[in-house]
Amino acid sequence: MTLTEKLLARASGKARVQAGDNIWVQADVLMTHDVCGPGTIGVFKREFGQTAKVWDRKKVVIIPDHYIFTSDSRSNRNVDILRDFVREQDLPYFYDVIDDPNGHWVFDASKGLLKKQYGSNYAGVCHAALPQKGHTRPGEVLFGTDSHTCMAGAFNQFATGIGNTDAAFVLGTGKLLLKVPESMHFRLEGKLQPGVMAKDIILQCIGEIGFDGATYRAMQFDGPGVASLSMDDRMTVANMAIEAGGKNGIFEFDAQTQAFVDYRCKLNNTKAEYQPVERDSGEKFVYEYTLDLSKLEPTVACHPDPGQRKLAKEMNVKLDRAYIGSCTGGKTSDFLEFARILNGKHVAIDTFGVPATPEIVRDLQTNHWGDKTVWDILISAGVQMTENAGCSACLGGPVDTFGRMNTPMKCISATNRNFPGRMGHKESQVFLASPATVAASALTGRITDPREFITV
Ligand code: SF4
Repeated sequence: MTLTEKLLARASGKARVQAGDNIWVQADVLMTHDVCGPGTIGVFKREFGQTAKVWDRKKVVIIPDHYIFTSDSRSNRNVDILRDFVREQDLPYFYDVIDDPNGHWVFDASKGLLKKQYGSNYAGVCHAALPQKGHTRPGEVLFGTDSHTCMAGAFNQFATGIGNTDAAFVLGTGKLLLKVPESMHFRLEGKLQPGVMAKDIILQCIGEIGFDGATYRAMQFDGPGVASLSMDDRMTVANMAIEAGGKNGIFEFDAQTQAFVDYRCKLNNTKAEYQPVERDSGEKFVYEYTLDLSKLEPTVACHPDPGQRKLAKEMNVKLDRAYIGSCTGGKTSDFLEFARILNGKHVAIDTFGVPATPEIVRDLQTNHWGDKTVWDILISAGVQMTENAGCSACLGGPVDTFGRMNTPMKCISATNRNFPGRMGHKESQVFLASPATVAASALTGRITDPREFITV
């Protein structure tokens, strides 16, 4: 069995499963956020009753992150609906925007978009927050009401996005009927060269199979090249499995996975036990692809979908905007690579920076290079950095969302999705690239290979 099949076999209490089997899978964690949480709660109450209790209060994680720093009253109300449900159900894992458990969330636009407007529990973008807060464990099943839930596959778990109705069923029963996906094999060899990042790996893979090339399939990433990838790198790769239509992305478990997970579970006092799944000799894949990381070059996914692959060095597209942020591209390591290229220079176009989580804001504001913090280096380079960590313009959002494209323009972005209208105006064009390529392009105002700014 493949990693995904082994994991699903265990989660369904069977000795073996194979692709195509329909099985009942036990959930270890159900995550929801402010966009889908209210709808999920509505279906849960309608189907299970107004006074029904969730199947296991310690397995529900609620993370408001999408439409948060906006004056849109309906978006603010969504966060209040989550808070009411958490109070009613006495849920321990709620990463609220405000500290008052009986309060109401209102964004104060008069304070501006840059200075932080959240309390001490707020955790930022759900997929980056889940591992930071100790909710991702190898061998487990994570369901989330968000398509990029697959990011947690970096931790050797089965993680997939589900709709509100399915999520409501999981809330009530703790299980879900799933068809076991076929598995595709992506074997990684070699090591990334300077200027090339994990984002380039996944853009290369999606370009190879197309934006629907993995529809309802598991994308298994393994091989000797994985050892040189950090957990942040693996998260970037697994995150975008859905951009090829994948049901999930999954990595092998190793010492790095263990160190990360053990540290985070201990730090947050979450469940510390887990049982990884390992590869065996009986794996059957429907697709095989070997990628030599040392030969990979900075890659861009062009408008209008993540499968439109080109090399950055072959492009000469004039840009209006650059954007770094999101679960995929707004991690500390992403900003460090971004800052390495911008350090001592100045951007030529509007450039927006949105860290994925408050912890990442703190990292950047406390990490010194010489006498300056990384945060200050980015500000000096002309990047508009907000402390209001969250999804922000990655998915457009209400018109007052930081970084949203409200007019037709061309933007290079470290985010993960570029279908028309994704980041705002439906006539805008979004080019997906690594933080390094976004930085180099911000400096020149054209899509630029970051190796032009790297001296080895
Ligand atoms: S940052 Fe973007 S991709 Fe990630 S959860 Fe938010 S909207 Fe979705």
